[in-house]
Amino acid sequence: MDASFKEEGEALAIPPLRASEKFHLFVSYSSVDTTWTHELIGRLEADHAGLRVCLHERDFTPGRNVLENMAECILQSQKVLLVLSQDFVQSRWCLLEADLSLFGYCLERKPVIPVLLRPCQVPLHLSHLTYLEATDSRFYSKVVRLLCTPSHRMARSLPGPRPLPSLYSGKTLLTLNCINRDNLPSWKVGTFSTLSVPDPLKEVLQDPEVYKHAVGILNGVQSPRSCLRYLGCRIPLGIFLILLFCASIPVLMIFWTQDTKPGPRFLLITTGVSLCLLFLVLAVNSLCWFRRFSRRKMQELALRVGEANLLLAPHSVLMGCETLNQLSFVFVQLEDCRRAFLEFPDGNTLFQEALLRFSCAYACCLVQAHFPPYRDIEGAQGHLEPGLCFCQYVSVQLES
Ligand SMILES: [Zn+2]
Repeated sequence: MDASFKEEGEALAIPPLRASEKFHLFVSYSSVDTTWTHELIGRLEADHAGLRVCLHERDFTPGRNVLENMAECILQSQKVLLVLSQDFVQSRWCLLEADLSLFGYCLERKPVIPVLLRPCQVPLHLSHLTYLEATDSRFYSKVVRLLCTPSHRMARSLPGPRPLPSLYSGKTLLTLNCINRDNLPSWKVGTFSTLSVPDPLKEVLQDPEVYKHAVGILNGVQSPRSCLRYLGCRIPLGIFLILLFCASIPVLMIFWTQDTKPGPRFLLITTGVSLCLLFLVLAVNSLCWFRRFSRRKMQELALRVGEANLLLAPHSVLMGCETLNQLSFVFVQLEDCRRAFLEFPDGNTLFQEALLRFSCAYACCLVQAHFPPYRDIEGAQGHLEPGLCFCQYVSVQLES
């Protein structure tokens, strides 16, 4: 413990427990992070005599189910500390999110201290809170400071009625990798899991069928069957064709210099030139096969994403894909843009058509926060600040 912290520690005191409270701190963590968490708790308890920390393996009532135990312990605690890591998000946070009606009630009454132990996708409900980073050199003193701050002076975890302040148009909700992304050959189109709605999407997309259907549309994109997908096939074939091209040039020269009649000579030269060009085109084609394939597949995938976005748009979610094996989901409210379309005859069909053609690229722009150049139209107010709203984006694309 450093000297500066000792001084702080003397000045700060942990607020006393109220009649309804049994613990100063409820700590939730994944079993993978047990050692780190126990070290932190051990140090806190050693430095603060009388500190009561609730740990699930020590303080849960045996025989009761985990959810009931968690809810009761949270209600009996002054504050809640969550140790965030990918394992936590996938295991314990799921329990909290699975029953938000119960934990929403508990958590919105308790100050939550999220601690980022290892990089992970911070759950949507916590993303508006400032979390502490375990790697911060002043991490421990920050935890103590928060522990000693009276609860009423700390931000609550779950914000009030929807839409959540943490949700804003243009917010990236999730980046989703395909199954087995690491082992996937570069020519293979990714397959995405449709088992359940990922946590970060649950707040806006509750119906698993919509998610399943939308992602299922993308899973229908076929990978190539051509033998050119293998690098070991493309390169030798390309080299062979280039060699043929090189070899045909001297043959062409011989035809050129041969003393034959003009008719057959013209025929020979024309055939030779055509063959030369054919070898060259085939060589370039096989060497650049992958580029052409990726471009074509990306166009196909973008159209499929557009199709999926027809299902997702009513839930204020758009999907985008920048590569063959990664998807992004963005929160974006399209109601105002849809109304702008409805001012035209047959507006609804136009809106659907625009979603189909442009929503994938638009979602990618939102994810990167980078929009195509556009002129400010005098007096025309967009529906997204800052950046282009969907109807503006479509009109820019149609103009260019
Ligand atoms: Zn708009």
